[in-house]
Amino acid sequence: PGERLYLGMDFGTSGARYALIDKQGTIHSEGKREYPFYMSGETIDWVQSWKTTIFSLLEDVPVHFRPLVASISIDGTSATTIIVDSNTGEPLWRPFLYNESCPDALPMVKSIAPVNHTVCSGSSTLCKLVSWWNTEDSKKESALLLHQADWLLWLLHGKLGVSDYNNALKVGYDPEVDSYPPWLLAQPYSHLLPSVTAPGTSIGCLKENIRTQFGFSEDCVVCTGTTDSIAAFLAARATQPGKAVTSLGSTLAIKLLSTRRIEDARFGVYSHRLDDKWLVGGASNTGGAVLRELFTDEQLDKLSEQINPMEASPLDYYPLTAAGERFPVADPNLAPRLHPRPESDVEYLHGILESIARIEAKAYSLLKDMGATEVEEVFTAGGGAKNDKWIKIRERVLGLPVSRAMQTEAAYGAALLALKGAQQSLN
Ligand code: ADP
Repeated sequence: PGERLYLGMDFGTSGARYALIDKQGTIHSEGKREYPFYMSGETIDWVQSWKTTIFSLLEDVPVHFRPLVASISIDGTSATTIIVDSNTGEPLWRPFLYNESCPDALPMVKSIAPVNHTVCSGSSTLCKLVSWWNTEDSKKESALLLHQADWLLWLLHGKLGVSDYNNALKVGYDPEVDSYPPWLLAQPYSHLLPSVTAPGTSIGCLKENIRTQFGFSEDCVVCTGTTDSIAAFLAARATQPGKAVTSLGSTLAIKLLSTRRIEDARFGVYSHRLDDKWLVGGASNTGGAVLRELFTDEQLDKLSEQINPMEASPLDYYPLTAAGERFPVADPNLAPRLHPRPESDVEYLHGILESIARIEAKAYSLLKDMGATEVEEVFTAGGGAKNDKWIKIRERVLGLPVSRAMQTEAAYGAALLALKGAQQSLN
């Protein structure tokens, strides 16, 4: 028999991917699907779209690998919420998408939750639940809340009502004491809340009809998942406290593995649990979007080549596309600063890259001041990760080793969760 393999699937904002890895983390197969469009009356039928996609991805896994798959896990977009019938698993309502806001529910949520709690945002899962509870009249008694990943995993294992503590954070689950808090359990809709386990926990075997239809093995198990951004962090395999991942996409997001949990709503800083550690995150509005307003990607490559990264740029900017910053400065009115512009575009770009690196350094230092483990190594993901000169500039400014993350796909992180679940179910 061949070596066992582990399947991860990522349901992101624009499409879904899978990655199939072995226990060393080597990728044996990967693939991608765009979401197909189905309409249900006037609105897009996302449930049908995701359901079609999960089975398309299973079909995309090469036939000869399928019997080798020991476990499967899935990540989904955070706070994407589906309310289903607790007997049949069928959705009672169209899903609430990750970025959808339910401001109607916010006053009620604020009146029950502690000040500045994660659920006190219009797009939190709890606001979605409360909004549904207040507008729907029927089927309330037999309703159940699932996150996108929970629901997709249910299609595979058939056990209704299971979630993980990463997805459940935004509905109010307390990962520190490992339960829903009393103020939430006291609500009339508390029976909708799913049970919660650690991400990467084996829930049960792959359903027999799916197993036989696709040719997966009898012992293939299905494991709880996580959110898409945590899966992307897991992909970088930053498994020790002090290891961090900076994502240089349109914005700059940092995630640091810490032994201590920290939260500060003013800066939008909060922590997800990862087993016995905490994944601390914060996001700045600076990042690649400003670069894209000023230069094409080819210009970025050409100009970067001419930068001497060992030399500090004297230019002091705060690159933003619009006023307002959250982290590491909480100032909704902070103005973009991109002047004076030197004649040389090389110098200009150097100044911008260096200024973004200073903001990154300030961000890590703020997390340390808040009580997180001090950062000791930074991996990089996102479109800016391919810029080697920027990596050198950041090494100098941060005073730390900086490198490109070997893997950045969330599907790869989900596959690592599948591996974790398979290893635990052996013990
Ligand atoms: P998103 O957050 O939109 O998913 P990506 O991770 O795809 O972003 O990264 C895109 C960003 O990467 C763009 O904003 C662009 O300015 C930036 N980028 C592209 N090429 C380079 C480069 N050579 N150096 C620095 N940044 C770059």
